[in-house]
Amino acid sequence: MKHLIFYVLKVELNNLRIECMDLFKGTKIYSIVTGTCPVCQEESMYVENNPYKLSSIFKMHERCKNCGLKYVIEPSFFFGAMYVSYGLNVGIAIITFLISYLIVGLSVLESFFALIGMLIILIPVVLRLSRNIWINIFKKYNKNAKQV
Ligand SMILES: [Zn+2]
Repeated sequence: MKHLIFYVLKVELNNLRIECMDLFKGTKIYSIVTGTCPVCQEESMYVENNPYKLSSIFKMHERCKNCGLKYVIEPSFFFGAMYVSYGLNVGIAIITFLISYLIVGLSVLESFFALIGMLIILIPVVLRLSRNIWINIFKKYNKNAKQV
């Protein structure tokens, strides 16, 4: 019984998440947050959707099965994502520091450790997000992208 309730709850939350994200379908935000193909937004670019499965964090499909977009547009294309990742990390560091120092009321040193901890915990998410943002800078959504 308990398992059933958790299962139903999980399915409902998942549906809610999908419905919320559908509002953004067709925008770059959708592709960036969900990690789907930037052109057709029909399938994930990644072999494993969970960024915290560290062994497959960089494993991407070579092409989109739906529209045929090659994700690695040119050799070492995703090196550029490092610039995005730098920006994201600076943003996260500033926000974490301000929250822990001004709102939670930690000391400067404690806030600094909170910031370091937050950056380490979020490494997989930042890696994925920066790749998603980077490819979305170069590719645009096209709702008529070939449906195979
Ligand atoms: Zn596609």
